[in-house]
Amino acid sequence: MAGPPRVNCAGRCVVCGERDCQTQACVDYHAVCLWAVCDVCDGAGWANGWPCVCTSGVVEVGR
Ligand SMILES: [Zn+2]
Ligand SMILES: [Zn+2]
Repeated sequence: MAGPPRVNCAGRCVVCGERDCQTQACVDYHAVCLWAVCDVCDGAGWANGWPCVCTSGVVEVGR
């Protein structure tokens, strides 16, 4: 399935965590990695009232 946007709502790259990242390696990495719905929060992005460890309800499962 498709993952979250490479740059999240706060402008941070989900690959390296840098703000306003333009790194080609991150673009390439994000383009090929695979994502699955998070088991912990079932895609909600929240678990027990706290932000889940996943990224917007999905987790990377490798490539
Ligand atoms: Zn990056
Ligand atoms: Zn989660």
